[in-house]
Amino acid sequence: ADSDRAEVRSDPVATSDGKPIEVAANVGQPAELEGATEQGADGIGLYRTEFLFLERESPPDEEEQYETYVEALDAFPEGRVVVRTLDVGGDKPIPYLELPEEENPFLGDRGIRRSLGVDADLFETQLRALLRAAADGAGDLAVMIPMVATVEEFESARETLDSVAADLDSEAVDYEIPEFGLMIETPSAAFMADEFAARAEFLSIGTNDLTQYVMAASRGNERVSELHDPQHPAVLRAIARTVDGAEGTDAWVGMCGEMAGDPELTELLVGLSLDELSMSAVTIPDVKANVSETDRESAEKLAKRTLQASTKRDVERLLDGDAEN
Ligand code: PEP
Ligand code: MG
Repeated sequence: ADSDRAEVRSDPVATSDGKPIEVAANVGQPAELEGATEQGADGIGLYRTEFLFLERESPPDEEEQYETYVEALDAFPEGRVVVRTLDVGGDKPIPYLELPEEENPFLGDRGIRRSLGVDADLFETQLRALLRAAADGAGDLAVMIPMVATVEEFESARETLDSVAADLDSEAVDYEIPEFGLMIETPSAAFMADEFAARAEFLSIGTNDLTQYVMAASRGNERVSELHDPQHPAVLRAIARTVDGAEGTDAWVGMCGEMAGDPELTELLVGLSLDELSMSAVTIPDVKANVSETDRESAEKLAKRTLQASTKRDVERLLDGDAEN
């Protein structure tokens, strides 16, 4: 099957009519950086930082984090590296964190909720390390906040960033303010996308969680896997609403959920007007090839039809039909 794969392209790609689409890698640990480069990633669209905190007795200090972030930035001297702040909740055991058992951990104290609450110290340390790395690493850093549901949460996160910057200033430590944005992975954030786009440099749609919450179907539960599918028109409408919310602002809109890495969906995602797609490294060559073969006008027509579909089956039929043309 390897021979069916597209050639690796390390240059950025554009649609056949010339719109550049950034194709980036999702990375979950430093060992994956090399593979991302080898597959031709333009940068990192989602660096999950949970690995830094898992399987150890105490949290990583500022220095260890700083080095980890600089390493990632140095791997993409021409690109952008989107680092997501710690996204833990009651479903992952971390011995030194206070992780109470919750009845509904996916609806509980997770992501930014913890970072502004019980994990506030960890959040500050992580931001200090990130701001310092932004000044010293080769690539461009962007910092992304997970699980945001309210405008106040994002504003508080920005205030923390600003106060960390003020501290570094007063200590005469080198730092840079990175691009600052959030994941759109709660229905609330998708509905409020215009408010977020007015306050953030970017939005990145996390379709794994967004699908889970829009469809009320767990991401890991086989009994409801039919429902946990981003091709449901409800999820497509949430994506479209997010993109619409950012229209007319300077915020770019990406996607870093698994959906972004499905080569069969590239045309649809281009048609939905995403600026960036981030995925597991192995699918990058195929997605880059598909982007360069996509004509935006027909992609937008396809997207429009799927947004009018009544069911997932209708969406699938539209995508199949289009593949035959
Ligand atoms: C998502 O929710 O789509 C996402 C990219 O984040 P994670 O899979 O780490 O929850
Ligand atoms: Mg998520």
